[in-house]
Amino acid sequence: MPRKYIFGPVKSRRLGLSLGIDILLKKKTCTFNCVYCEIGCTNPNHLVSPEYRIHNPPKPAFQKELKDMLKFTPNLNSITFGYNGEPTLNENIIDFLKIAYQIRDEKEWNKKPRMSLLTNSTTLYNKEIRAKISQFEYIIAKLDAGTEKDFKITNRPHKNISDINIIVDSLIKLKREMPINNKLAIQILLYNSYISKRYSNNNKQNIYQLGYALKKIKPDYVQLYSISRIPAEPTIYSINTSELEKISNKLKKIIDDNSITIYHY
Ligand code: SF4
Repeated sequence: MPRKYIFGPVKSRRLGLSLGIDILLKKKTCTFNCVYCEIGCTNPNHLVSPEYRIHNPPKPAFQKELKDMLKFTPNLNSITFGYNGEPTLNENIIDFLKIAYQIRDEKEWNKKPRMSLLTNSTTLYNKEIRAKISQFEYIIAKLDAGTEKDFKITNRPHKNISDINIIVDSLIKLKREMPINNKLAIQILLYNSYISKRYSNNNKQNIYQLGYALKKIKPDYVQLYSISRIPAEPTIYSINTSELEKISNKLKKIIDDNSITIYHY
């Protein structure tokens, strides 16, 4: 029987050995159409507003698949919701999360895998969604742009998402509301463009604005990385590790806060 909800485990640069949970049921549904998306462009019919909700409660198959997979994966680092669009669009995310915690916690672990969430941050202006996702032990939230121009060219958001500042404010609120033991990482993907520098988010203005946004959000971690798989648009390419290191140093200077750890991959 093909698995419906669970995939992997996969070795992730940022999460270690990660077992993926897809609660959008194999159909990429997203509020963004990122130029670098490794699962391809978002179908215009599935590029949705952040108010859009998917009603898809967990079926018994979810429990069974997760239990079966955990039997064979004793050294997992993370059980990760995400990978196929924006998981917070599913209004039943908390029902999936409760089941996942219960199944994880009834098993003996040397070190428990973290319950993690990948989000593109667009729905987090909504207080109810922030309250639900605060229950994840590790939230990895996307923020690739500090300027409106870079936001539009990089993430190509649904027309109802008008302002990057709303996303930054949502992340500030999320961090303040999260339980102290749960951690927030801001994930920033930077890339170059073959066409022109104007079509890349790797530019001075964007890096500065990202730095100031991070200073206000105060995440636990910043994950700086670039393209490692085939991007949705062939006109963009990866930036190298030494450049990422330089950008990381610039961000450190702007943020000027030792409580925030910046990694580059
Ligand atoms: S938010 Fe994630 S899934 Fe959605 S388009 Fe961007 S990279 Fe792809």
